[in-house]
Amino acid sequence: MSKRRFYITTAIPYVNGDPHLGFALECVQADVLARHRRLRGEQVRFLSGTDDHSLKNVEAAVAAGVGVAEFVDAKAARFAGLREPLELSYDDFIRTSRDPRHRPGVERLWRACAASGDLYERYYEGLYCTGCEAFLGPAELVEGFCPEHRQAPEQVSERNWFFRLSRYEGRLLELIESGRLRIEPEQRRNEVLGFIRGGLEDFSVSRSQKRARGWGIPVPGDPSQVVYVWFDALGNYISALGYGAQGVLYGEWWQRSDERLHVIGKGIVRFHAVYWPAILLSAGEPLPTAIFAHDYLTLDGQKLSKSLGNTHDPADVAARHGSAALRWWFLRDVPRSGDADFRDDLLAARANELANGLGNLVNRTITLIARYRPQGIAPVDPRATESLVLHAAITRTPGEIDAALSRFDIKAAAAALWRLVDEANRFVATTRPWELAKAENSGEAGAVADLDVALSILGDACGTLARELHPFLPAASERIERALGENDTELGRRLFEKAAPSG
Ligand SMILES: [Zn+2]
Repeated sequence: MSKRRFYITTAIPYVNGDPHLGFALECVQADVLARHRRLRGEQVRFLSGTDDHSLKNVEAAVAAGVGVAEFVDAKAARFAGLREPLELSYDDFIRTSRDPRHRPGVERLWRACAASGDLYERYYEGLYCTGCEAFLGPAELVEGFCPEHRQAPEQVSERNWFFRLSRYEGRLLELIESGRLRIEPEQRRNEVLGFIRGGLEDFSVSRSQKRARGWGIPVPGDPSQVVYVWFDALGNYISALGYGAQGVLYGEWWQRSDERLHVIGKGIVRFHAVYWPAILLSAGEPLPTAIFAHDYLTLDGQKLSKSLGNTHDPADVAARHGSAALRWWFLRDVPRSGDADFRDDLLAARANELANGLGNLVNRTITLIARYRPQGIAPVDPRATESLVLHAAITRTPGEIDAALSRFDIKAAAAALWRLVDEANRFVATTRPWELAKAENSGEAGAVADLDVALSILGDACGTLARELHPFLPAASERIERALGENDTELGRRLFEKAAPSG
């Protein structure tokens, strides 16, 4: 039987500024889902990248007095550089301006939509928010400002190419209502359904070369226009698979994969759940199977945003507190829906939780086994009375994690893992293996078997924790596995050394 194939992507951020914690959150969430599926034996392909062709990038380069390509290269390198500090496991990273696979993919997508009769030219006037890279209707403005970016949109009038979105209203509704295109959480799904039911208007999918300052992919057959950045950016999910060149990967991972999941922020749901599926329907290609939208991180109650300027560099935070602490805070504290407020002291508390709860448990277990059973533990009955509760927790935990992650509830999955840590610590506190060892030394009846049972079940709990921890904290999981495998008490003492705050 062939393995299930799971394709997962992050959104590709604009590179008009440095990466912020919100994007780091998204990368880590997607990474957990990808690693979890790999752990369960599925075939996984995980894609991230950068959106180089945004007008915002052009404006930022002009403001910095640097050439656009040079500016974009430097910023994109900062995003790609998050791979190590965040322990990301993506298989591919696409840069839409540089990657030779991208432009042919966007051109093919454009031609496919044109062949379906869904692209037409029209003169257009409207209010454009460069922050959103979208035209906004008067009803979407708050006191004349874009509510997302808190800036006034500019009046734009030009001849553009339009996409016949209106034609796909019924099919999109049917796909989303039937769950064939799954949108999570429910609140986002309802927003999308409400938006579609309100009536879909055709949208502009090109910009004049002049306004784009020549930056972007020229419209096939109309070099006076460049392809609208969203049409361009959304195409990355398939251009990276070689869609433009009819590549093998495209067939394997888009046309014939079992699941295709986009992990995105709540601000861009409409682009992913309405525009993108409509473009794919027009092009005659399969749709994503699911879209998971996370909420935002705030910093002292303020939205983290490049345009608002209150950024925290994720690489700096990881260097200060350790990658494990940063990942663990994202996974343990950020809810499936609802914003989460980032604070250094909350992160430090999670670092301490790891060191005190999990680090101590593993360290104690290794030390006890090294001291009392250096030659190994005799086979025991795992159903021995005193270990029943812990044994049940060990058996139950992987299924609980699977169930939580199938709902994209990463916080619940991390909590399930932590319940096993708590259960194992409770077991140590109640069985007190060092006292069993004293009883064994003084020749008490049954003490040998009791200690065997206690150390055996603790070893099992730590082994399960190490394995199940892997998607969440890959490097720490590997350290725990090595320490357990080699009964390395020295390594056991240093498991979360880097996770502890340095000062
Ligand atoms: Zn905006």
